[in-house]
Amino acid sequence: MIAVDLGRLNDIAAEQLSRSGIDHGAVVRAIRDHIDYSDRTGEIPESFWSRVAVRGLNTMLVPARFGGDQEPLPAVGRLAVLEDIGFADAGYAIALPGPGLATPPITSLGSESQQQRFFAGFLTDRPVWGAFAITEPDVGSDATSIQTRAVPTDRGYLINGTKCFITNGERAGSIVVFATLDSRRGRFGIRAFVVDRGTPGFTVVRREKMLGLRASQLVVLSFSDCEVPKESMLIGPAGARIVDAFASAQGAWDFMRPMLTAIIVGACRAIREALHEHVEGYGLPSRRGVGREAVTELFRNMDRQVQIARLLAYKAAWRYDNGLPMSKDASMAKAFASQTAIRMAEQALELVGSDIVFGQPRLERLYRDAKAFDILEGTGDMQRLMITAMHRGRTAERSARTLAA
Ligand SMILES: Cc1cc2nc3c(=O)[nH]c(=O)nc-3n(C[C@H](O)[C@H](O)[C@H](O)COP(=O)(O)OP(=O)(O)OC[C@H]3O[C@@H](n4cnc5c(N)ncnc54)[C@H](O)[C@@H]3O)c2cc1C
Repeated sequence: MIAVDLGRLNDIAAEQLSRSGIDHGAVVRAIRDHIDYSDRTGEIPESFWSRVAVRGLNTMLVPARFGGDQEPLPAVGRLAVLEDIGFADAGYAIALPGPGLATPPITSLGSESQQQRFFAGFLTDRPVWGAFAITEPDVGSDATSIQTRAVPTDRGYLINGTKCFITNGERAGSIVVFATLDSRRGRFGIRAFVVDRGTPGFTVVRREKMLGLRASQLVVLSFSDCEVPKESMLIGPAGARIVDAFASAQGAWDFMRPMLTAIIVGACRAIREALHEHVEGYGLPSRRGVGREAVTELFRNMDRQVQIARLLAYKAAWRYDNGLPMSKDASMAKAFASQTAIRMAEQALELVGSDIVFGQPRLERLYRDAKAFDILEGTGDMQRLMITAMHRGRTAERSARTLAA
């Protein structure tokens, strides 16, 4: 069983990153120097890439047997890394290159040769992205009802449909696209396909104008009679018969939610720091009758909430690393952290008041980012519904066991 020493969390990021050949400090400094530009334009400029070890970022999730420099960091190790990058900027943390959310469907549904082919694209010194496309204009939370169709042809499959809100979708070289072979079969009709950029019929329709997390570039993708070869459909390891490809989409969220929580925790720390700097620089907003004690208590409470969110993420990641069920833990971590970020951003803005207009562009950006956290990777409402359902399921199972005993 993999253990994590909670007393040494601050050292983990540096240790894990030095193993991956990534200069953590350089990434954080480069983000800080480019964030204003990226927040204005949604672009990551060339000057950023010349300052970071791109190959290390590309291959952070690539298994050693497919050419990654070493085994990917355990989930627990990645949290420390992502928290610090999220502290520099959450949008950048989500925008960094690598296979990203496409990793779980590729590793759980891809045959050995499909995995080999997909991961080979990341073994380079220029930034390469993967992406994951399930959401559609009319289907978000209930992802089992997707309408994008894949119809078998002599050579492969013809894909038709539209996907929206796809993170890094314009930058990605390959995208794992979920489509249905037979919508009457619900989730069991869904399959995953790897679609390469440049495939005829596959176009980026537009980039969304984003409130926050702008560096991560969300796009709308269109598939119009887009023919992909037979080998594009993820078929599972040799001899396996895929019954439920949708489960791997859920696996992607389980894999990602603790990491996203770490990014959100980083953003919460940034909100706290920006507020602290403001109070130090401009003094207490005493004209509105706010006393030192109330402000101190506000900071203490923020610290408590941040620590709870961090520990929930570590628990979920630790269970993931040890092969234990963790969907509920991942949902709890993500739901709690995104609510914490929104609350902290609101409290900070309330305290700063009208000074925000001239004094705190960073806080204003963090507030916009916080709003997005509650939507991506499943909305807060959906997380709470899932937590309740999983809790009920477990309670029912426990009662049945007690009765049987
Ligand atoms: C920054 C960002 C990045 C994203 N990246 C990706 C990506 O890379 N790939 C991808 O495929 N998708 C991505 N998404 C899409 C995201 O997964 C969806 O936005 C999300 O699943 C919600 O779907 P929706 O927007 O259609 O909202 P809807 O599902 O229409 O929900 C609208 C509102 O209704 C609520 N609601 C819905 N159903 C219920 C219910 N049963 N009970 C109670 N309340 C309910 C929701 O909580 C929400 O408040 C991203 C979104 C964002 C914001």
